[in-house]
Amino acid sequence: MPHPLILGDFQLYWLNGGSFRLDGGTMFGAVPKVLWQKKYTADAANSIPLVNDLLLVKTPQHTLVIDTGLGNKLTAKQLSIFQVTSPWSVVTDLTDLGLSRDDIDLVLLTHCDFDHAGGIVMLNEEKKEELTFPRALHYVQKAEWEDVETPCHRAQSTYWAENFDLLKREGQLKIIEGDLEVGPGIRLRHTGGHTRGHQLVELSSQGKTAVHLGDLFPTHAHINPLWIMAYDNFPLQVIERKKEYFNHYGKLNSWFTFYHDPQIKACKITEQGDIKATWPPSLQR
Ligand SMILES: [Zn+2]
Repeated sequence: MPHPLILGDFQLYWLNGGSFRLDGGTMFGAVPKVLWQKKYTADAANSIPLVNDLLLVKTPQHTLVIDTGLGNKLTAKQLSIFQVTSPWSVVTDLTDLGLSRDDIDLVLLTHCDFDHAGGIVMLNEEKKEELTFPRALHYVQKAEWEDVETPCHRAQSTYWAENFDLLKREGQLKIIEGDLEVGPGIRLRHTGGHTRGHQLVELSSQGKTAVHLGDLFPTHAHINPLWIMAYDNFPLQVIERKKEYFNHYGKLNSWFTFYHDPQIKACKITEQGDIKATWPPSLQR
């Protein structure tokens, strides 16, 4: 069993939501390759490895996940297009932790791109669709849900109906607008930036804080506020939000947790914007 990151009364684990490779240029937007390749190695086809590892958080009151990974519904063609290098194994990862799908009572969705929402609905052993976390309320921002229901031309390729139809039918969807305390020490904040309805998750327990910035801070290589993704829909907003959150949460000595980083799961940063601690600690850079 992996060691959790301890945050006061909370325990943070990362579950394998599947790994894939994406074009390195798309992950670093306007940043020249000569700069980003010093931090992140690309192969001959310019692709870089990424994980989609959802957070599992155990609190005294709740057992929640942040996002859901790639899921197990991708077709052979999609597995090839997205260069999936290891499959989603969330159900077995839960078993390894002594948990079942029914133990999860909250699913907090930073946004609804397929790499974050693909595991909302899974195929069971009979290849029938089921909610992966059937007892959980799934929290989404209203603006994000509007774009899922009526995607623009660009979003049609990333908001997939098969990730949401069952969620709507089963009534486990909770649409919120703005900021909300979901439970003791669990707060959602609308950020925008990456998508119109993107949100962050703030966790706090016994004076300790962790913040999950989702795709505003996908890997530790994106620590420069100007290093943003070509996938960002509102890039200037991402830059402003990153500066604001690095300042605010940096002062709180907060952990910044990652979803896409294949090397580290979380880091702490200094006021100058340098990494001062990592999780796991053995991978200190
Ligand atoms: Zn993403």
